[in-house]
Amino acid sequence: MFFDSHAHLDDNQFDGDRDRLIRGLTNRGIGLVVNPGADMASSRFAVKIAEKYPHIYAAVGVHPHDADSMGDRDIYELEKLAAHEKVVAIGEIGLDYYYDNSKRDIQRIRFIQQIELAGHVGLPIIVHNRDAHADTLDIIRKNIDNISGGIMHCFSGSVELMREFIDMGFYISLGGPVTFKNAKRPIDIAREVPLERLLIETDSPYLTPHPFRGRRNDPGYVSLIAQKIAQIRGMRAEEVADITFRNALKLFNIEYERDVNAMDTFVYALGDALYINLTNKCTNSCNFCIRNENTGVGGYNLWLNREPTSKEVIDLIGDASQYSEIIFCGYGEPTIKLDELLEIARSVKAQGGKVRINTNGQANLYHGKNITPRFEGLIDTVSISLNAPTAYEYQQICKSDYGEDAFHGLLEFASECKKYVPNVVFTVVDVLSPDKIEASRRLAEELGVQFRVRTFIEKQDLA
Ligand code: SF4
Repeated sequence: MFFDSHAHLDDNQFDGDRDRLIRGLTNRGIGLVVNPGADMASSRFAVKIAEKYPHIYAAVGVHPHDADSMGDRDIYELEKLAAHEKVVAIGEIGLDYYYDNSKRDIQRIRFIQQIELAGHVGLPIIVHNRDAHADTLDIIRKNIDNISGGIMHCFSGSVELMREFIDMGFYISLGGPVTFKNAKRPIDIAREVPLERLLIETDSPYLTPHPFRGRRNDPGYVSLIAQKIAQIRGMRAEEVADITFRNALKLFNIEYERDVNAMDTFVYALGDALYINLTNKCTNSCNFCIRNENTGVGGYNLWLNREPTSKEVIDLIGDASQYSEIIFCGYGEPTIKLDELLEIARSVKAQGGKVRINTNGQANLYHGKNITPRFEGLIDTVSISLNAPTAYEYQQICKSDYGEDAFHGLLEFASECKKYVPNVVFTVVDVLSPDKIEASRRLAEELGVQFRVRTFIEKQDLA
């Protein structure tokens, strides 16, 4: 998981898709993000965003560009905002002598005031410094008693300057510029920065990393920055992700608990397919089910705090045609959520996508009627977990709520599916004895459905 220590999710460039983007970050491997404020309005908005999403935290502050417009009383409002439990820093604050959007003496005054605020509330600072190295260093040195840690955000100075800030307890954050083709200083910094003081950030929607420069940036691209730093230092990107994640937790004093901080995983990508996790309910309790031992697959936690709506899933899927298949397979039986499943399938088919359901085949028993006609035109493949060639053995393995009726219901469901779905497949796991696998194969042949033996990974299989 990655920690993006600096992303302006409040920026109006995210107005069209903010919710979808933020909800999808967990699935893209982004564990946590800090959203710094740039002025009073964006500081307020950053707190609102952090309130809404468990994996987003906020910083509040006024950027040097807006120093001129900061009023004397704004410092009191920042103090109130800083008391919020999801506010973890004062920022972004500092000096910008490149654009000079605010008068330099006013920039310095507001910078010092906000450092004093950080000292008062006991939070680290997030520092913007562009072409103002000497004054930034001077102000920080003179106010060091009010500083309890901080970040030199998107650091652009020399290695010598970096060492000065590190000696004063600062972390050095690297962003998109380290990936740029003409990068020099950021590469020197990436090579020299002590790992225990390194952070990564996107500064999105700005500074999009290579090779996506020119597009809108978002926290999902932080992995490219980790990859580049890993390449420079001869490490693995996962190591950079782990180290910077831990560094950020320490600096921001965040206790990360995946179950608390992660968004529910409603969709998850594995290979070139996208999987949909609609529910944790199931009418079986299979001996081999991954749910008995693990929290998820492929690094995704599939236990849900709540079930998604079809609209949420459709939004998260986005362009369905980019995936080889959209597969309903999560930590539960997807046909239990039949209406949602079909509405999502309709949306996928309208985009030219392919739809598969991995199921225990008990939908008709669960709904008390034959639901398979509703699959027509919407479902390309139904993959039914057969697991055994007889009702008795099935019940021994799968412990269905319907007893041995489950097996007979499953066979009937398969024959009905054949009328409405192009591909119907029985699957068994390869731990069955060869004669049972053979008997299952014959059963599939008798019913005229396809047959597949799937690899069993001990205690890690789903229907
Ligand atoms: S393996 Fe599938 S059918 Fe069996 S309990 Fe798990 S989710 Fe349900």
